[in-house]
Amino acid sequence: MSDDPSAASPADSETGSAGPPAGLVLVSTPIGNLGDLSPRGRVALAEADLVLCEDTRHTARLLGALGVHARTAPLHEHNEDAAIPAVLARLAAGRTVALVSDAGTPLVSDPGYRLVRAALAAGHPVHAVPGPNAAVTALVLSGLPPLPFLALGFPPPRAAARTAGFHALRAAERAGLSATLIWYEAPHRLAGMLADLLAVFGDRPAAVARELTKRFEEIRRDRLAALAAHYAAEPARGEVTVLLGPPAEGSAEQDQDSLDRQLRAALATNSLKDAAALVAAATGLPRKRVYARALELEGG
Ligand code: SAM
Repeated sequence: MSDDPSAASPADSETGSAGPPAGLVLVSTPIGNLGDLSPRGRVALAEADLVLCEDTRHTARLLGALGVHARTAPLHEHNEDAAIPAVLARLAAGRTVALVSDAGTPLVSDPGYRLVRAALAAGHPVHAVPGPNAAVTALVLSGLPPLPFLALGFPPPRAAARTAGFHALRAAERAGLSATLIWYEAPHRLAGMLADLLAVFGDRPAAVARELTKRFEEIRRDRLAALAAHYAAEPARGEVTVLLGPPAEGSAEQDQDSLDRQLRAALATNSLKDAAALVAAATGLPRKRVYARALELEGG
């Protein structure tokens, strides 16, 4: 698509709600509000020879509400590899196979990636009917910088692995990453996750988006410490997406990171006293403060 908005005229755009051409069709479905399924998504499901779904009972309810009769088959984490050959055979016969997940965009923290790879490798057309996605919906509502963002799926459920993952991201920030970070999380793990985020990233702007597009939709935009305290006192319910803003430019946090980086480099080849003097001269910071920090880094 052109970057120039004036370049798109109604004549250029496909305005009909005809379904996508034959092939594998990735259909995004609502993350709560049934009205969010696009007309083209409905046609794609109605016209598909087969609808692959994570949970056939869940998708049967969606199809029933849409008044669509379609043949369904399961495609989930545990059978995806085994299911691929039969799907490829259908595609080779010129059939249309739709893929949906329980909610939102297939493949995004949901099954389908291995199937898409296999279909592409076999030369079959792959189309998408775009639509709801919890991460992007939460992002645009969060009030946090929309770009760049990094969607990370679910953090590991165990606290040790989760904290290690957060430390790796924090290290990436120290090396220059500056993005809004987005995670999916189960409601019963939210309080623990927020406490770990606070411990690793420090207090900074964040948001928790709950039950998006549903009756009890709620977006809390606050600093991490306040959000962690809130959800420790009042456990969350429903579907939850967590967002963490990037470290503020020129923040005390960033200044500290930069000072630490320079000190570590200087300490690698100088005595503590000389390293502190060199870095104090380079940064213009008070020598006493730099010396005290160098001592801390050296474990003194
Ligand atoms: N493929 C989906 C998408 O495109 O958003 C995500 C699937 S992932 C298995 C499900 C997780 O997404 C939930 O556990 C929750 O963290 C988040 N999520 C889904 N619906 C949501 C909603 N309505 N509000 C907030 N978060 C939601």
